[in-house]
Amino acid sequence: MPVNDTKATGHLFEKPLEACPLCGSPKIRRLHRIERFEPAFTVDRCASCGFIFTNPRLTHDAMTALYGRDYYTGASDYSYYDERETEQYARHVWDSRCEAIHRFIHGGNILDVGSSFGGFLKSASKYYRPHGIEVSSYAGGYSISSIGPTIHIGTLKDHPFEDNYFSVISMIELLEHLPDPLFALRECHRLLRDGGLLLIQTANMAGLQARLQGKRYGYYLPGHCSYFTKKNLMDALTACGFSRIKAFHPVEFGLIPKLKKSRGAFTSVWHYRAWLRIAAYHYISKIRFGNFAATSSMVLYAFK
Ligand SMILES: [Zn+2]
Repeated sequence: MPVNDTKATGHLFEKPLEACPLCGSPKIRRLHRIERFEPAFTVDRCASCGFIFTNPRLTHDAMTALYGRDYYTGASDYSYYDERETEQYARHVWDSRCEAIHRFIHGGNILDVGSSFGGFLKSASKYYRPHGIEVSSYAGGYSISSIGPTIHIGTLKDHPFEDNYFSVISMIELLEHLPDPLFALRECHRLLRDGGLLLIQTANMAGLQARLQGKRYGYYLPGHCSYFTKKNLMDALTACGFSRIKAFHPVEFGLIPKLKKSRGAFTSVWHYRAWLRIAAYHYISKIRFGNFAATSSMVLYAFK
């Protein structure tokens, strides 16, 4: 496993943080030790703002090593799926998301940060000129061949894109991977034109689901280091200059595309029983008032 390779070099973790990376408060408390991965890691919670973060952080090299080929093929302990294998099913969700964005923004350039194999950008190219940033050369290299040279293999810190260039920027299940999420939000604000839209999907740690599951919550992963409450994220977006924020629970499209996508993992007719669970989760996610939310799924649309 790549992380263990890095362990051999003796530089797996950074020096522990002594203040909250979101609000700067020194009042940070140990929250959980997550032991289901090797190596185990710890997460702290800020007593001032409630932001949860991995502490100490993995080093940049250890973090990058997570996203090699093994990450996408399921060969590592911590892995993602290779979206190309179930693309025809995932397309239902990607297309629905593009229709939702199109209700607000009708054209221009789109940037998908964490664009993976480019599946979402292929759907987005119906309305927008596709651009991507992808840290993995394995996934990014593939999307350069299918989408073109507008995919940058790297990060928000070393990209070639100019200010005010994009009408839409998406960060789908990406922000939780970033050790400096405030930098990313400011950078997205700079890259967006006035009125442009930043789409963020990440877990809401204030959701009852995350609070009840505690350290068993599946979002605690070696590659995740920033865990927001909805209020954390809305406050951060406002501080970074976004003028209007719209929240969706669980997501900004309906149940049907999710059911169609789930079929990609089905190998027997019995697997259709999962539709009951998916539908229940979808409708339970709509239960919310104030800062209370029954589940931890959310999508925010923030406008510059
Ligand atoms: Zn804080």
